[in-house]
Amino acid sequence: KLRVERLQAWFGDRHVLRDVSLEVPASSVMAVIGPSGCGKSTFLRCLNRMHELVPGARSDGGVFLDGEDLYRRGVDPVLLRRRVGMVFQRPNPFPTMSIRDNVAAGLKLNGFRGTLDEIVERCLRQAALWDEVKDRLKAPATSLSGGQQQRLCIARALAVEPEVLLMDEPASALDPVATAKIEELMHELKERYTIVIVTHNMQQAARVSDYTAFFYMGELVETGATERIFTNPGEQRTEDYVTGKF
Ligand code: ATP
Ligand code: MG
Repeated sequence: KLRVERLQAWFGDRHVLRDVSLEVPASSVMAVIGPSGCGKSTFLRCLNRMHELVPGARSDGGVFLDGEDLYRRGVDPVLLRRRVGMVFQRPNPFPTMSIRDNVAAGLKLNGFRGTLDEIVERCLRQAALWDEVKDRLKAPATSLSGGQQQRLCIARALAVEPEVLLMDEPASALDPVATAKIEELMHELKERYTIVIVTHNMQQAARVSDYTAFFYMGELVETGATERIFTNPGEQRTEDYVTGKF
């Protein structure tokens, strides 16, 4: 399981996450919801220590994976980011690499089971992209549409078999068919992974997640079973948000 304790984050002087504590049980999906600018992407970046790569940014508090302190000295942040994989809000394939090489990018360093091409195919299938690219695996990743690039990034994240998968609006550039496939994939993956997904789509949060965390202006307003958050929220702000009042 993933446990976050009193997490704080700043960009320069701007305090953008305040005292966030929550737990995501293993083999479950947590949806992170809240208005634009409330800190959802920053929260995800703190979980795999990408926040600290932003110049002038810092964070404080604790993130624990199965009891292991991910912020302690001695943790290699590069290896950590393989265990806690991320799909970004804007697709970011390696532009100079082919479709195939993008998926395989993390594999050589990591050690892997099976042959490279088998893994590439499996991950592209899981990301609902295989049929569209199987005849052009050597084409540059930039020859794909935005939604295809997003699915490519999902395949790349899956290839290294992370323990935790962070997804920042993975379906924002996808059509309803691809979105449904990605949601189906999340149901399959959660047997093996812990998944945290940011979404602006309340129906999607209700469909895919077991737990929901509602953020507002850098604070975690409440978290709990998705069913409860949507039907019986404990805070007025949560109710207003999930019912679309702001
Ligand atoms: P959205 O739903 O629009 O993606 P979000 O909830 O993901 O929003 P964040 O991107 O985490 O919000 O931003 C949280 C706050 O931090 C915002 O006020 C934003 O303006 C600020 N912020 C984000 N990135 C930076 C940055 N690189 N430098 C300075 N401030 C930033
Ligand atoms: Mg964001």
